[in-house]
Amino acid sequence: MYFDDFECCNPLGSKAGDDLGLNSILGFNESFQASFFCRFCKTPNEMTKIQTVEDLYSLRTQINYEMDMKSKSFGIKEECVFNCLPSYHVIDNCSVDLMHDMLEGILRYDMAQVLYYLVDKGYFSLDNLNERIRFLNFSEVDIGNPIPPIKIKNIKK
Ligand SMILES: [Zn+2]
Repeated sequence: MYFDDFECCNPLGSKAGDDLGLNSILGFNESFQASFFCRFCKTPNEMTKIQTVEDLYSLRTQINYEMDMKSKSFGIKEECVFNCLPSYHVIDNCSVDLMHDMLEGILRYDMAQVLYYLVDKGYFSLDNLNERIRFLNFSEVDIGNPIPPIKIKNIKK
């Protein structure tokens, strides 16, 4: 189950939330085009496009959060209103946007690699897979959003 907005009855839980909603309610910048948009690190936007390994020195900590919050810099617009609660600090909140970050985000690339490997090793052909997809009995929810045929150029990257 996925909520496209922050779950208002459980703002501190680990329920899924939309990145924009989470950034907004937690006091972070709401534009993902901004120089610093990430709730977890202070990696500049341009660097996030090429960085492939976590940089421990760019991670947000309670110490650098307090400094950045006071100067309203590095993507922090205001102090998180929930920080006044005992046993809570926004830096320890690790809720992510499962739909946008994973399902519609990086998993597309992982799945392409998996499909390419399976086709390349001869477990099945792309034609066979596309035929199975074409005759898949879609649910009412998915029937208006059919899966297009998968081409080798889509998975070979
Ligand atoms: Zn980050």
